[in-house]
Amino acid sequence: MIRRIVLFALVAVASASAAQAPKRPVAFRTKTMGTWATLTLVTSDSSSVADLAYRSLLVLHRVDSLMSNWTQTSDVARINRNAFARDVTVHPEVATVLEMAQRVTRDSDGAMDITIEPLVRLWGFLGGPRRVPTQAEITDALRAVGPDKLRFDPARKTIRFSDINTKIDLGGIAKGYGVDRVADGLRRAGTTDALVDLSGNMVALGSAAGKNGWTVGIRDPSNRAPYLGTIQLHNEAISTSGSYEQFIDADGKRYGHIIDPRTGWPAQGLVSVTVVSPSATLCDAWDTGLFVLGSEKARALAKSHDEFAIVIVEPRADGGFVVWVEEALRPRFKVESGAQNTITLHYF
Ligand code: ADP
Ligand code: MG
Repeated sequence: MIRRIVLFALVAVASASAAQAPKRPVAFRTKTMGTWATLTLVTSDSSSVADLAYRSLLVLHRVDSLMSNWTQTSDVARINRNAFARDVTVHPEVATVLEMAQRVTRDSDGAMDITIEPLVRLWGFLGGPRRVPTQAEITDALRAVGPDKLRFDPARKTIRFSDINTKIDLGGIAKGYGVDRVADGLRRAGTTDALVDLSGNMVALGSAAGKNGWTVGIRDPSNRAPYLGTIQLHNEAISTSGSYEQFIDADGKRYGHIIDPRTGWPAQGLVSVTVVSPSATLCDAWDTGLFVLGSEKARALAKSHDEFAIVIVEPRADGGFVVWVEEALRPRFKVESGAQNTITLHYF
């Protein structure tokens, strides 16, 4: 008799737990690569996905430990200490990123260039303190910069620098790579609906709860509205490079952290470049290169490359913005209602 009662109680508990809670987005966070990473998983049982979430975020710490320029212990730091005039074997993951970076360097006419390191350091965006250097210092640093200063052999995974001051900085591509690897892991684990976000480098898997895909905003740098517009994403990546987060204000000018490798001065002209493509690594590499190239060249390049599509934000004389949206994104782009008076919208 007692046995039967226990059995009934068990059946009651089991049937209660079988009724599922509605799915909701649950966010998990970690601080890495100099910023915050947020992984959002859509689930009806947050405790069952917590382990997977934190294991996934650890991937970013691994990528940081390989590619950081802020420590002396990363693989990139080891390369930078040793690769002058001799071949250094790089970690396989670093090799993957180098190969991708070199492709974008070639296709962007050298605008995205990982040998930018001496200039990023000179301006204080690496190591600090941030300051406007003299033209003589810039000219001197430029001598170690350029795609011809670096020889990378993808088959042997070796790298060599031809100038004693040449160093690499993967800051313009590593975050995208990290986000891609997190997304890979999630897919392997069978996750269908998730958003990986490392300060604007994102991969959107499946859909947000009850939605058709994920809606991602393009920030209004003036903060009058939360967003200038939104883009609908479904199983693809997006990233944005902007001049409104890391910069130096001096002599009435604003100098951002993306540097034009041809002049050694921070790229001027754009507020932000947003890139949408299947690969977050590609998005990250291109957002940096296109930011350097400026509006006209960026639009021409985007038109001639089917593997990515872009949105460009330029300053307007009255404090508003000119927003260029590539035709391929038109059906999924929406102007934010609060931003309607702030922007002039063009499709191209
Ligand atoms: P964020 O890091 O804000 O996401 P980016 O992807 O544009 O923005 O990366 C900017 C970083 O890339 C800089 O902090 C610097 O480390 C590096 N960088 C700056 N200029 C260039 C360039 N011309 N090519 C490649 N990397 C660059
Ligand atoms: Mg980038």
